Amino acid sequence: MKKNIIIAIDGFASTGKSTLAKHLANYLNYIYVDSGSMYRAITYYALKNNYLPFNEENLKEFSKILLDVKLSFVFNKKLGYSEIFLNNNNIEKEIRSILVSNHVSSVATVSFIRKHMVNLQKKLSLDKGVVMDGRDIGTVVFPNAELKLFLTASAEVRAKRRYSEYVNENVEVEYDEVLNNLKSRDLDDSKRKDSPLIVADDALEIDNSFMSMEDQLIFVKSILKDKFNL
Ligand code: C5P
Repeated sequence: MKKNIIIAIDGFASTGKSTLAKHLANYLNYIYVDSGSMYRAITYYALKNNYLPFNEENLKEFSKILLDVKLSFVFNKKLGYSEIFLNNNNIEKEIRSILVSNHVSSVATVSFIRKHMVNLQKKLSLDKGVVMDGRDIGTVVFPNAELKLFLTASAEVRAKRRYSEYVNENVEVEYDEVLNNLKSRDLDDSKRKDSPLIVADDALEIDNSFMSMEDQLIFVKSILKDKFNL
């Protein structure tokens, strides 16, 4: 029988981590977990319930109610991947808004929120093959992951990709706003004290500025075959 492995994909915002992760999970018949969607879901919840900006007082209250907030992933057969639900409501669309994007990195600096997310993430993959993408998957969530990838690309290339996604979805947003959001999230994610975005020592770095998704898949599939016989 083939061995199930853990594939951790980390990297900067909008480097195509989720797309690569989904393709690999389908290819290997593994579960796919978008850890960013969990931080986005908590941010969406905090915004909706007027907790932001956090202060000493409301953070205390938030730490208590966080344990009752139910996050779950439900596989969507049509799409071929799992979608995130908050207290049994599908919030995939809501969590991708610019408003959530503008707040998520500050919410993700809060240590008790990170601790809770990491516990949930570890549970999601018990004994199963998993592809998980995020910022701290290879360093904190699964330091023993068999394959760690770290994706990078120039900020302009990433902003153009994200901007065209918004245009395709008929979301009204300026290119500069998208670029600034990516840059400020990268900075916040890299300089935070708890679990900063760094390249794990044993991660393979892929700069995909000039690579198509197909190129990346061919490359990673060759590693899976050569190194893991998958
Ligand atoms: O992956 P995505 O861009 O949707 O993630 C949104 C934000 O969630 C990131 O900018 C980062 O602040 C936070 N995040 C994190 N750790 C993860 C995944 C996401 O801090 N593992």
